[in-house]
Amino acid sequence: MKALVYEGPRQVSVKEVPDARIERPTDVLVRITTTNICGSDLHMYEGRTDFETGRWFGHENLGEVVEVGPGVDKVKVGERVVLPFNISCGFCKNCERGFTNYCLTTQPDPQLAGAAYGFADMGPYQGGQAELLRVPYGDHNCLRLGEDAAERENDYVMVADIFPTGYHATELAGVVPGDSVVIYGAGPVGLMAAYSATIKGAGKVMVVDRHPDRLRLAESIGAIAIDDSKTDPVQAVLEETMGLGADRGCECVGYQAHDPQGSEDPSMTLNNLVKSVRFTGGIGSVGVYVPQDPGGRDELAQQGQVAFDYGLHWFKGQTLGSGQCPVKKYNRRLRDLIAAGKATPSFIVSHELPLEQGPDAYAHFDARDDGWTKVLLKPGLATG
Ligand SMILES: [Zn+2]
Ligand SMILES: [Zn+2]
Repeated sequence: MKALVYEGPRQVSVKEVPDARIERPTDVLVRITTTNICGSDLHMYEGRTDFETGRWFGHENLGEVVEVGPGVDKVKVGERVVLPFNISCGFCKNCERGFTNYCLTTQPDPQLAGAAYGFADMGPYQGGQAELLRVPYGDHNCLRLGEDAAERENDYVMVADIFPTGYHATELAGVVPGDSVVIYGAGPVGLMAAYSATIKGAGKVMVVDRHPDRLRLAESIGAIAIDDSKTDPVQAVLEETMGLGADRGCECVGYQAHDPQGSEDPSMTLNNLVKSVRFTGGIGSVGVYVPQDPGGRDELAQQGQVAFDYGLHWFKGQTLGSGQCPVKKYNRRLRDLIAAGKATPSFIVSHELPLEQGPDAYAHFDARDDGWTKVLLKPGLATG
């Protein structure tokens, strides 16, 4: 089969690799029809993680079941399924409590928890930016789609990661109807957080970014766009909230946060959130942070540490929730919102390309080139 293989920093190429196959009785084999490039792929693509060369990315996957192991009861050949980016077992101590993002069975390192397709430090599993994908514990990990699966494919594929992750940010922050919400980062996850806050009935949604294409998308769903290359975002949020600060805030940028001039500071968005959110408000942090960052700007950053403004955070009595999203907690509900025509998260899609154009797409998305807001790779799509 063909896969988009990682060969080193900013180097990926389409190569012939051994077919993914059923390895255990509980596996399901999926022929990928849509697989997204994610902002978190870029940390690996840029060489800012220990992702191994020769492997491939792809954790936002949707496709058709082509084979099931003898231990699979529910999922049938021919069904269309969307896969949570978390690979989980369903029976370990964490999965039982709903924390499929910290599965203890699928992560082979006993010091760690949680697994994902094609992801650094998340187990040996290959990604879906390929023609075929092996899905462990298939009955547990496949979310089946209805007859509108093909018609709404670009919406349903968002249920693999970014729609639930954006939703999770609003859950961690505690968004309820009427709340004012500020979101730092209008990449795909930030836009999904803004969209989720709107769906939940937030009174006012503000989105901070500096890329005009992303800010336009935020405005297209009724959010207030704040361009931090032109204005102080904290001041702008205070002005929109009678000087009190937003009720809730979401961090959707992560450890490679940088100012408009490109100077990195992993504490920047977190500290802006502490200042932008009111006393007793809630903050949800879903942007990726890592325990080690050898490419970090100083010793602190290299050890995964952040100069967090804990004094002000404590003084204001804010809550802070963090970590990867347990996709299974939300994916059925979000699928059903799409099926009912109440949500169309595909509004952020800018490109649908064959796998062969993946290397070019990575370069554009990594450069934040204007108009490259979300790329969907379609391994079945004819080239040219
Ligand atoms: Zn993702
Ligand atoms: Zn588990």
